Amino acid sequence: MNEAVLTPEEIVVVGAGMVAHRFVESLMSRAVRPMHVTVIGDEGLRPYERVGLTGVFDGVTPAELELDRSVFDDFRVRFMADDRALHIDRSRRTIRTRSRRRIDYDTLVLATGSYAARVDADGADLPGCFVYRTLEDVQRLKAFVEQRGRALGRPLRGAVIGGGLLGVEVAGALQGMGVEPTVVQHSERLMSAQLDAAGGAMLERLLEAQGISVRTQSCTTRLDADDDGAVSTVEFQDGSVERADVVVFAVGVRPRDELARNAGLQVDPRGGVIIDERCSTSDPHILAIGEVASFDSRCVGLVAPGYAMAEVAATRLLGGDAVFPGYDDSSKLRLSGVDVASFGDAMATTPNAIDVVYTDPVAGVYKKLVLSADTQTLLGGILVGDATAYGALRPLVGSRLGAEPAAYLLPVTGEEAPRSDQAQTTYVATVEKIGGRELIRLDRENAGMSERTAS
Ligand SMILES: Cc1cc2nc3c(=O)[nH]c(=O)nc-3n(C[C@H](O)[C@H](O)[C@H](O)COP(=O)(O)OP(=O)(O)OC[C@H]3O[C@@H](n4cnc5c(N)ncnc54)[C@H](O)[C@@H]3O)c2cc1C
Repeated sequence: MNEAVLTPEEIVVVGAGMVAHRFVESLMSRAVRPMHVTVIGDEGLRPYERVGLTGVFDGVTPAELELDRSVFDDFRVRFMADDRALHIDRSRRTIRTRSRRRIDYDTLVLATGSYAARVDADGADLPGCFVYRTLEDVQRLKAFVEQRGRALGRPLRGAVIGGGLLGVEVAGALQGMGVEPTVVQHSERLMSAQLDAAGGAMLERLLEAQGISVRTQSCTTRLDADDDGAVSTVEFQDGSVERADVVVFAVGVRPRDELARNAGLQVDPRGGVIIDERCSTSDPHILAIGEVASFDSRCVGLVAPGYAMAEVAATRLLGGDAVFPGYDDSSKLRLSGVDVASFGDAMATTPNAIDVVYTDPVAGVYKKLVLSADTQTLLGGILVGDATAYGALRPLVGSRLGAEPAAYLLPVTGEEAPRSDQAQTTYVATVEKIGGRELIRLDRENAGMSERTAS
Protein backbone atom coordinates (compact mmCIF):
# COMPACT_ATOMS: atom_id res chain seq x y z
CA MET A 1 0.00 0.00 0.00
CA ASN A 2 1.37 3.43 -0.95
CA GLU A 3 1.50 5.89 1.90
CA ALA A 4 0.82 9.45 0.79
CA VAL A 5 3.73 11.74 1.68
CA LEU A 6 2.50 15.19 2.56
CA THR A 7 4.72 18.01 1.33
CA PRO A 8 4.99 20.68 4.00
CA GLU A 9 3.28 23.91 3.16
CA GLU A 10 5.84 26.73 2.79
CA ILE A 11 4.86 29.89 4.60
CA VAL A 12 7.10 32.94 4.42
CA VAL A 13 6.67 35.86 6.82
CA VAL A 14 8.33 39.17 5.98
CA GLY A 15 8.99 41.22 9.10
CA ALA A 16 9.88 39.95 12.56
CA GLY A 17 8.02 42.35 14.83
CA MET A 18 5.45 41.74 17.55
CA VAL A 19 2.68 40.83 15.11
CA ALA A 20 4.82 38.37 13.12
CA HIS A 21 5.80 36.71 16.40
CA ARG A 22 2.16 36.37 17.44
CA PHE A 23 1.28 34.92 14.03
CA VAL A 24 4.00 32.25 14.14
CA GLU A 25 3.14 31.38 17.75
CA SER A 26 -0.55 31.03 16.96
CA LEU A 27 0.04 29.04 13.76
CA MET A 28 2.64 26.60 15.05
CA SER A 29 0.92 25.92 18.36
CA ARG A 30 -2.12 24.69 16.43
CA ALA A 31 -0.63 23.20 13.23
CA VAL A 32 -1.26 19.49 12.80
CA ARG A 33 -0.31 19.09 9.16
CA PRO A 34 3.30 19.66 8.03
CA MET A 35 4.25 23.33 7.72
CA HIS A 36 7.53 25.19 7.35
CA VAL A 37 7.69 28.83 8.27
CA THR A 38 10.52 31.14 7.21
CA VAL A 39 10.63 34.53 8.93
CA ILE A 40 12.75 37.31 7.41
CA GLY A 41 13.58 40.21 9.73
CA ASP A 42 15.83 43.14 8.93
CA GLU A 43 16.50 44.41 12.47
CA GLY A 44 19.21 41.87 13.30
CA LEU A 45 17.34 40.89 16.46
CA ARG A 46 14.79 38.37 17.52
CA PRO A 47 11.31 39.90 17.94
CA TYR A 48 11.10 42.16 20.98
CA GLU A 49 8.44 44.05 22.85
CA ARG A 50 8.38 47.34 20.98
CA VAL A 51 5.69 48.72 23.30
CA GLY A 52 8.16 48.37 26.19
CA LEU A 53 11.06 50.22 24.51
CA THR A 54 10.92 53.19 26.86
CA GLY A 55 11.91 50.83 29.68
CA VAL A 56 15.44 50.92 28.22
CA PHE A 57 15.84 54.34 29.88
CA ASP A 58 15.09 52.68 33.22
CA GLY A 59 17.68 49.97 32.67
CA VAL A 60 15.56 47.29 30.94
CA THR A 61 17.97 45.20 28.85
CA PRO A 62 17.41 44.01 25.26
CA ALA A 63 17.30 40.43 26.59
CA GLU A 64 14.44 41.40 28.91
CA LEU A 65 12.50 42.91 26.01
CA GLU A 66 12.82 39.80 23.84
CA LEU A 67 9.58 37.95 23.15
CA ASP A 68 9.26 34.21 23.88
CA ARG A 69 12.22 32.75 21.97
CA SER A 70 10.86 29.21 21.99
CA VAL A 71 8.48 30.26 19.19
CA PHE A 72 11.34 30.74 16.72
CA ASP A 73 13.35 27.82 18.17
CA ASP A 74 10.68 25.45 16.87
CA PHE A 75 12.34 23.03 14.39
CA ARG A 76 9.68 23.92 11.80
CA VAL A 77 10.61 27.63 11.91
CA ARG A 78 13.61 29.19 10.16
CA PHE A 79 14.49 32.72 11.25
CA MET A 80 16.61 34.84 8.93
CA ALA A 81 17.74 37.79 11.06
CA ASP A 82 19.44 40.84 9.59
CA ASP A 83 18.15 40.20 6.11
CA ARG A 84 15.59 42.14 4.13
CA ALA A 85 13.04 40.98 1.59
CA LEU A 86 13.66 43.10 -1.49
CA HIS A 87 11.43 41.69 -4.17
CA ILE A 88 8.35 39.51 -4.54
CA ASP A 89 7.94 37.55 -7.76
CA ARG A 90 4.24 36.80 -7.59
CA SER A 91 4.11 34.63 -10.71
CA ARG A 92 6.83 32.30 -9.39
CA ARG A 93 5.83 32.77 -5.74
CA THR A 94 9.36 33.62 -4.73
CA ILE A 95 10.97 36.20 -2.48
CA ARG A 96 14.44 37.63 -3.09
CA THR A 97 16.37 39.01 -0.14
CA ARG A 98 19.27 41.42 0.39
CA SER A 99 21.59 38.47 0.99
CA ARG A 100 20.62 37.20 -2.51
CA ARG A 101 18.62 34.30 -1.19
CA ARG A 102 15.53 33.11 -3.04
CA ILE A 103 12.74 31.65 -0.96
CA ASP A 104 9.69 29.95 -2.40
CA TYR A 105 6.32 30.28 -0.75
CA ASP A 106 2.89 28.79 -0.91
CA THR A 107 1.61 31.62 1.26
CA LEU A 108 3.36 34.90 1.96
CA VAL A 109 2.50 36.96 5.04
CA LEU A 110 3.53 40.61 5.05
CA ALA A 111 4.12 41.92 8.57
CA THR A 112 6.50 44.75 7.75
CA GLY A 113 5.04 47.30 10.18
CA SER A 114 5.77 51.00 9.86
CA TYR A 115 8.49 53.62 9.61
CA ALA A 116 8.66 56.46 12.07
CA ALA A 117 8.13 59.71 10.17
CA ARG A 118 10.16 62.93 10.49
CA VAL A 119 8.89 66.41 9.80
CA ASP A 120 9.74 67.81 6.43
CA ALA A 121 11.89 70.70 7.65
CA ASP A 122 15.44 71.88 6.99
CA GLY A 123 17.81 70.39 9.55
CA ALA A 124 15.55 67.47 10.52
CA ASP A 125 18.48 65.08 9.99
CA LEU A 126 21.07 67.00 12.02
CA PRO A 127 23.07 65.10 14.67
CA GLY A 128 20.95 65.14 17.80
CA CYS A 129 17.67 64.54 15.89
CA PHE A 130 16.09 61.13 16.40
CA VAL A 131 13.06 59.03 15.64
CA TYR A 132 11.76 56.56 18.22
CA ARG A 133 10.75 53.23 16.76
CA THR A 134 13.41 50.56 17.18
CA LEU A 135 15.68 49.34 19.94
CA GLU A 136 18.57 50.80 17.98
CA ASP A 137 16.86 54.24 17.83
CA VAL A 138 16.40 54.22 21.59
CA GLN A 139 19.95 53.07 22.33
CA ARG A 140 21.37 55.77 20.02
CA LEU A 141 19.21 58.44 21.65
CA LYS A 142 20.28 57.37 25.13
CA ALA A 143 23.98 57.36 24.18
CA PHE A 144 23.68 60.80 22.57
CA VAL A 145 21.98 62.34 25.61
CA GLU A 146 24.65 60.95 27.95
CA GLN A 147 27.53 62.09 25.73
CA ARG A 148 26.02 65.52 24.93
CA GLY A 149 25.22 66.16 28.59
CA ARG A 150 28.85 65.49 29.50
CA ALA A 151 30.12 67.70 26.63
CA LEU A 152 27.89 70.66 27.49
CA GLY A 153 28.18 70.26 31.25
CA ARG A 154 24.63 71.41 31.90
CA PRO A 155 21.12 69.95 31.76
CA LEU A 156 20.03 69.46 28.16
CA ARG A 157 16.94 71.03 26.66
CA GLY A 158 14.85 68.64 24.57
CA ALA A 159 12.10 69.09 22.00
CA VAL A 160 9.69 66.27 21.23
CA ILE A 161 7.99 67.09 17.96
CA GLY A 162 4.54 65.50 18.10
CA GLY A 163 2.13 65.52 21.03
CA GLY A 164 0.43 62.21 20.40
CA LEU A 165 0.61 59.11 22.55
CA LEU A 166 4.24 58.41 21.66
CA GLY A 167 5.38 62.04 21.99
CA VAL A 168 4.04 62.24 25.55
CA GLU A 169 5.77 58.96 26.40
CA VAL A 170 9.08 60.15 24.94
CA ALA A 171 8.93 63.42 26.89
CA GLY A 172 8.75 61.42 30.12
CA ALA A 173 11.69 59.27 29.02
CA LEU A 174 13.82 62.34 28.26
CA GLN A 175 12.91 63.90 31.58
CA GLY A 176 13.95 60.70 33.31
CA MET A 177 17.42 61.24 31.83
CA GLY A 178 17.63 64.77 33.22
CA VAL A 179 16.60 66.51 29.99
CA GLU A 180 14.17 69.45 30.25
CA PRO A 181 11.60 68.51 27.59
CA THR A 182 9.07 70.52 25.63
CA VAL A 183 6.35 68.70 23.72
CA VAL A 184 5.54 70.49 20.49
CA GLN A 185 2.12 69.76 19.08
CA HIS A 186 0.89 70.87 15.68
CA SER A 187 -2.82 70.85 16.59
CA GLU A 188 -4.55 72.69 19.41
CA ARG A 189 -4.37 69.86 21.97
CA LEU A 190 -2.31 66.89 23.04
CA MET A 191 -3.31 63.39 21.91
CA SER A 192 -5.92 64.80 19.59
CA ALA A 193 -6.79 61.32 18.25
CA GLN A 194 -7.75 60.06 21.73
CA LEU A 195 -8.72 63.11 23.79
CA ASP A 196 -11.25 65.92 23.46
CA ALA A 197 -10.37 69.54 24.21
CA ALA A 198 -10.96 69.30 27.97
CA GLY A 199 -9.09 65.98 28.25
CA GLY A 200 -6.15 67.39 26.26
CA ALA A 201 -6.10 70.50 28.46
CA MET A 202 -6.07 68.38 31.62
CA LEU A 203 -3.20 66.26 30.32
CA GLU A 204 -1.31 69.43 29.46
CA ARG A 205 -1.80 70.77 33.01
CA LEU A 206 -0.62 67.52 34.54
CA LEU A 207 2.49 67.39 32.35
CA GLU A 208 3.34 71.04 33.01
CA ALA A 209 3.00 70.37 36.73
CA GLN A 210 5.68 67.69 36.35
CA GLY A 211 8.04 70.03 34.52
CA ILE A 212 7.24 68.94 30.96
CA SER A 213 6.49 72.04 28.88
CA VAL A 214 3.82 71.88 26.21
CA ARG A 215 3.56 74.02 23.13
CA THR A 216 0.43 73.53 21.00
CA GLN A 217 -0.50 74.92 17.57
CA SER A 218 3.17 75.01 16.70
CA CYS A 219 4.47 73.92 13.34
CA THR A 220 8.20 73.17 13.13
CA THR A 221 9.74 74.83 10.09
CA ARG A 222 13.50 74.54 10.60
CA LEU A 223 16.21 73.15 12.88
CA ASP A 224 19.63 74.75 13.25
CA ALA A 225 22.97 73.51 14.49
CA ASP A 226 25.53 75.04 16.84
CA ASP A 227 29.28 75.24 16.12
CA ASP A 228 29.66 71.50 16.85
CA GLY A 229 27.22 70.75 14.06
CA ALA A 230 24.63 69.26 16.45
CA VAL A 231 21.07 70.53 16.68
CA SER A 232 20.67 73.56 18.96
CA THR A 233 17.42 75.33 18.04
CA VAL A 234 13.99 74.61 16.61
CA GLU A 235 12.17 77.33 14.71
CA PHE A 236 8.40 77.55 14.30
CA GLN A 237 6.02 78.93 11.71
CA ASP A 238 5.35 82.06 13.76
CA GLY A 239 9.09 82.85 13.76
CA SER A 240 9.63 81.92 17.40
CA VAL A 241 12.60 79.75 18.36
CA GLU A 242 13.18 77.20 21.15
CA ARG A 243 16.58 75.95 22.34
CA ALA A 244 16.93 72.22 21.94
CA ASP A 245 20.06 70.11 22.42
CA VAL A 246 18.19 66.97 21.44
CA VAL A 247 15.11 66.55 19.25
CA VAL A 248 12.87 63.51 18.94
CA PHE A 249 10.31 63.23 16.17
CA ALA A 250 7.11 61.46 17.21
CA VAL A 251 4.97 62.66 14.34
CA GLY A 252 3.35 59.39 13.38
CA VAL A 253 4.15 56.32 11.38
CA ARG A 254 4.06 55.37 7.68
CA PRO A 255 3.26 51.80 6.68
CA ARG A 256 6.21 49.96 5.15
CA ASP A 257 4.29 48.95 2.05
CA GLU A 258 7.04 49.43 -0.58
CA LEU A 259 7.53 45.69 -1.11
CA ALA A 260 3.83 45.21 -1.78
CA ARG A 261 3.62 48.34 -3.92
CA ASN A 262 6.50 47.19 -6.13
CA ALA A 263 4.87 43.78 -6.48
CA GLY A 264 1.70 45.40 -7.82
CA LEU A 265 -0.50 44.58 -4.84
CA GLN A 266 -3.35 46.98 -4.12
CA VAL A 267 -2.19 49.68 -1.75
CA ASP A 268 -4.34 52.38 -0.19
CA PRO A 269 -3.65 55.88 -1.58
CA ARG A 270 -2.91 56.94 2.03
CA GLY A 271 -0.55 53.99 2.49
CA GLY A 272 -0.91 50.41 3.68
CA VAL A 273 -1.55 47.11 1.91
CA ILE A 274 -5.29 46.75 1.40
CA ILE A 275 -6.74 43.67 3.12
CA ASP A 276 -10.19 42.22 3.47
CA GLU A 277 -11.69 40.89 6.68
CA ARG A 278 -9.77 37.61 6.23
CA CYS A 279 -6.46 39.50 5.92
CA SER A 280 -6.19 38.67 2.20
CA THR A 281 -4.49 41.16 -0.08
CA SER A 282 -5.37 41.55 -3.76
CA ASP A 283 -3.27 38.38 -4.34
CA PRO A 284 -4.93 35.30 -2.77
CA HIS A 285 -1.48 33.84 -1.91
CA ILE A 286 -0.44 36.92 0.06
CA LEU A 287 -1.80 38.05 3.43
CA ALA A 288 -0.94 41.22 5.33
CA ILE A 289 -1.20 41.77 9.09
CA GLY A 290 -0.26 44.42 11.64
CA GLU A 291 0.57 48.04 11.04
CA VAL A 292 1.32 47.57 7.34
CA ALA A 293 -2.22 46.35 6.64
CA SER A 294 -4.91 48.80 5.63
CA PHE A 295 -8.42 47.71 6.57
CA ASP A 296 -11.36 49.98 5.79
CA SER A 297 -8.82 52.49 4.42
CA ARG A 298 -7.06 52.74 7.79
CA CYS A 299 -3.76 51.60 9.27
CA VAL A 300 -3.71 51.75 13.07
CA GLY A 301 -0.57 52.15 15.18
CA LEU A 302 -1.68 49.91 18.05
CA VAL A 303 -0.60 46.37 18.68
CA ALA A 304 -3.96 44.84 19.67
CA PRO A 305 -5.54 45.06 16.18
CA GLY A 306 -2.33 43.57 14.76
CA TYR A 307 -2.62 40.63 17.15
CA ALA A 308 -6.25 40.15 16.10
CA MET A 309 -5.15 40.06 12.44
CA ALA A 310 -2.38 37.57 13.30
CA GLU A 311 -4.95 35.24 14.85
CA VAL A 312 -7.27 35.58 11.85
CA ALA A 313 -4.45 34.83 9.39
CA ALA A 314 -3.23 31.81 11.38
CA THR A 315 -6.73 30.39 11.76
CA ARG A 316 -7.29 30.78 8.08
CA LEU A 317 -4.08 28.95 7.15
CA LEU A 318 -5.14 26.15 9.45
CA GLY A 319 -8.34 25.77 7.45
CA GLY A 320 -10.59 27.54 9.94
CA ASP A 321 -12.80 30.52 9.45
CA ALA A 322 -12.19 33.78 11.24
CA VAL A 323 -12.70 37.40 10.35
CA PHE A 324 -11.10 40.61 11.56
CA PRO A 325 -13.88 42.48 13.37
CA GLY A 326 -12.46 45.94 12.62
CA TYR A 327 -10.30 48.27 14.66
CA ASP A 328 -10.83 48.93 18.31
CA ASP A 329 -8.85 52.09 19.01
CA SER A 330 -9.34 51.81 22.77
CA SER A 331 -6.22 52.33 24.81
CA LYS A 332 -5.21 52.78 28.41
CA LEU A 333 -1.71 53.97 29.07
CA ARG A 334 0.44 55.49 31.74
CA LEU A 335 2.25 58.29 29.94
CA SER A 336 4.90 60.32 31.71
CA GLY A 337 3.29 59.32 35.00
CA VAL A 338 -0.26 60.26 33.95
CA ASP A 339 -3.01 57.68 33.43
CA VAL A 340 -4.86 58.23 30.17
CA ALA A 341 -7.59 56.09 28.64
CA SER A 342 -9.83 56.54 25.65
CA PHE A 343 -12.38 54.03 24.37
CA GLY A 344 -15.31 53.60 22.01
CA ASP A 345 -16.85 56.75 20.56
CA ALA A 346 -14.68 58.97 22.74
CA MET A 347 -15.27 62.04 20.57
CA ALA A 348 -19.05 61.57 20.70
CA THR A 349 -19.56 61.47 16.95
CA THR A 350 -22.79 59.44 17.27
CA PRO A 351 -25.77 61.71 16.47
CA ASN A 352 -27.40 63.13 19.62
CA ALA A 353 -24.86 61.49 21.92
CA ILE A 354 -24.73 62.88 25.43
CA ASP A 355 -21.56 63.57 27.41
CA VAL A 356 -21.50 63.08 31.16
CA VAL A 357 -18.41 64.86 32.45
CA TYR A 358 -16.62 65.03 35.78
CA THR A 359 -13.63 67.29 36.23
CA ASP A 360 -11.59 67.99 39.34
CA PRO A 361 -8.80 70.41 38.44
CA VAL A 362 -7.38 70.22 41.98
CA ALA A 363 -6.95 66.45 41.90
CA GLY A 364 -6.04 66.59 38.21
CA VAL A 365 -8.84 64.36 36.98
CA TYR A 366 -11.03 64.54 33.89
CA LYS A 367 -13.55 61.83 33.11
CA LYS A 368 -16.17 61.70 30.39
CA LEU A 369 -18.72 59.09 29.48
CA VAL A 370 -20.49 59.27 26.13
CA LEU A 371 -24.04 57.92 26.25
CA SER A 372 -26.72 57.32 23.63
CA ALA A 373 -29.46 59.96 23.30
CA ASP A 374 -31.69 58.01 25.71
CA THR A 375 -28.75 57.84 28.18
CA GLN A 376 -29.12 54.04 28.37
CA THR A 377 -26.19 52.82 26.26
CA LEU A 378 -22.52 53.50 26.86
CA LEU A 379 -20.86 54.61 23.61
CA GLY A 380 -17.39 55.52 24.81
CA GLY A 381 -15.36 57.65 27.14
CA ILE A 382 -12.19 59.45 28.12
CA LEU A 383 -10.32 59.20 31.43
CA VAL A 384 -7.36 61.43 32.31
CA GLY A 385 -5.55 61.42 35.66
CA ASP A 386 -7.51 58.44 37.00
CA ALA A 387 -8.25 55.57 34.64
CA THR A 388 -9.22 52.97 37.22
CA ALA A 389 -12.74 52.70 35.77
CA TYR A 390 -11.39 51.70 32.33
CA GLY A 391 -11.42 47.96 33.02
CA ALA A 392 -15.07 48.06 34.05
CA LEU A 393 -16.22 50.50 31.38
CA ARG A 394 -14.58 49.27 28.19
CA PRO A 395 -16.40 45.93 28.00
CA LEU A 396 -19.68 47.80 28.45
CA VAL A 397 -19.31 49.84 25.24
CA GLY A 398 -22.44 49.23 23.16
CA SER A 399 -24.45 47.94 26.11
CA ARG A 400 -26.31 49.29 29.12
CA LEU A 401 -24.20 50.96 31.74
CA GLY A 402 -26.01 49.12 34.53
CA ALA A 403 -25.51 51.91 37.07
CA GLU A 404 -25.70 55.66 37.31
CA PRO A 405 -22.83 57.31 35.37
CA ALA A 406 -21.77 58.94 38.63
CA ALA A 407 -20.86 55.51 40.00
CA TYR A 408 -18.07 55.31 37.42
CA LEU A 409 -17.07 58.95 37.39
CA LEU A 410 -16.97 60.11 40.97
CA PRO A 411 -13.95 59.44 43.15
CA VAL A 412 -14.06 56.35 45.31
CA THR A 413 -14.04 57.72 48.86
CA GLY A 414 -13.58 54.43 50.74
CA GLU A 415 -15.33 53.40 53.91
CA GLU A 416 -14.17 56.31 56.00
CA ALA A 417 -17.06 58.34 57.44
CA PRO A 418 -16.79 62.10 56.96
CA ARG A 419 -15.36 63.95 59.97
CA SER A 420 -17.87 66.07 61.95
CA ASP A 421 -16.17 69.29 60.80
CA GLN A 422 -16.30 68.12 57.19
CA ALA A 423 -19.49 68.55 55.24
CA GLN A 424 -20.91 65.53 53.45
CA THR A 425 -20.18 65.92 49.76
CA THR A 426 -23.06 65.49 47.38
CA TYR A 427 -23.21 65.95 43.65
CA VAL A 428 -25.85 67.70 41.61
CA ALA A 429 -26.37 66.88 37.96
CA THR A 430 -27.45 69.61 35.56
CA VAL A 431 -28.03 69.41 31.83
CA GLU A 432 -26.56 72.11 29.63
CA LYS A 433 -26.50 72.69 25.91
CA ILE A 434 -23.08 73.46 24.50
CA GLY A 435 -22.56 73.83 20.79
CA GLY A 436 -25.96 72.25 20.11
CA ARG A 437 -25.06 69.14 22.15
CA GLU A 438 -26.27 68.10 25.55
CA LEU A 439 -23.73 67.90 28.33
CA ILE A 440 -24.51 66.63 31.81
CA ARG A 441 -22.34 68.33 34.42
CA LEU A 442 -21.72 66.91 37.86
CA ASP A 443 -21.25 69.67 40.42
CA ARG A 444 -20.01 69.17 43.95
CA GLU A 445 -22.21 70.78 46.58
CA ASN A 446 -20.74 71.36 50.04
CA ALA A 447 -22.99 72.43 52.98
CA GLY A 448 -24.87 75.02 51.08
CA MET A 449 -21.79 76.19 49.15
CA SER A 450 -21.85 74.91 45.60
CA GLU A 451 -18.39 74.30 44.21
CA ARG A 452 -18.15 73.81 40.48
CA THR A 453 -16.05 70.81 39.72
CA ALA A 454 -17.29 69.85 36.33
CA SER A 455 -16.86 71.72 33.10
C1 LIG B 1 8.01 53.30 22.00
C2 LIG B 1 6.73 52.70 21.52
C3 LIG B 1 5.71 52.47 22.41
C4 LIG B 1 4.51 51.90 21.97
N1 LIG B 1 3.52 51.68 22.88
C5 LIG B 1 2.38 51.11 22.49
C6 LIG B 1 1.36 50.84 23.42
O1 LIG B 1 1.48 51.14 24.61
N2 LIG B 1 0.22 50.22 22.98
C7 LIG B 1 0.07 49.86 21.67
O2 LIG B 1 -0.95 49.28 21.30
N3 LIG B 1 1.03 50.11 20.75
C8 LIG B 1 2.17 50.73 21.12
N4 LIG B 1 3.15 50.97 20.20
C9 LIG B 1 2.92 50.55 18.79
C10 LIG B 1 3.25 49.06 18.64
O3 LIG B 1 4.57 48.84 19.02
C11 LIG B 1 3.03 48.65 17.19
O4 LIG B 1 1.65 48.77 16.89
C12 LIG B 1 3.46 47.20 16.91
O5 LIG B 1 4.80 47.00 17.24
C13 LIG B 1 3.23 46.88 15.43
O6 LIG B 1 3.75 45.60 15.18
P1 LIG B 1 4.08 45.10 13.68
O7 LIG B 1 4.67 43.76 13.89
O8 LIG B 1 2.91 45.29 12.81
O9 LIG B 1 5.19 46.13 13.12
P2 LIG B 1 6.67 46.42 13.61
O10 LIG B 1 6.75 46.33 15.09
O11 LIG B 1 7.06 47.70 12.97
O12 LIG B 1 7.53 45.22 13.02
C14 LIG B 1 7.82 45.10 11.64
C15 LIG B 1 9.19 44.50 11.48
O13 LIG B 1 9.38 44.19 10.12
C16 LIG B 1 10.69 44.60 9.73
N5 LIG B 1 10.69 44.78 8.26
C17 LIG B 1 10.05 45.74 7.55
N6 LIG B 1 10.25 45.56 6.25
C18 LIG B 1 11.01 44.46 6.11
C19 LIG B 1 11.57 43.77 4.98
N7 LIG B 1 11.35 44.15 3.73
N8 LIG B 1 12.31 42.68 5.21
C20 LIG B 1 12.55 42.23 6.48
N9 LIG B 1 12.07 42.85 7.57
C21 LIG B 1 11.29 43.95 7.39
C22 LIG B 1 10.89 45.86 10.54
O14 LIG B 1 12.26 46.23 10.64
C23 LIG B 1 10.31 45.43 11.88
O15 LIG B 1 11.27 44.75 12.64
C24 LIG B 1 4.34 51.56 20.60
C25 LIG B 1 5.38 51.80 19.69
C26 LIG B 1 6.56 52.38 20.13
C27 LIG B 1 7.66 52.64 19.14
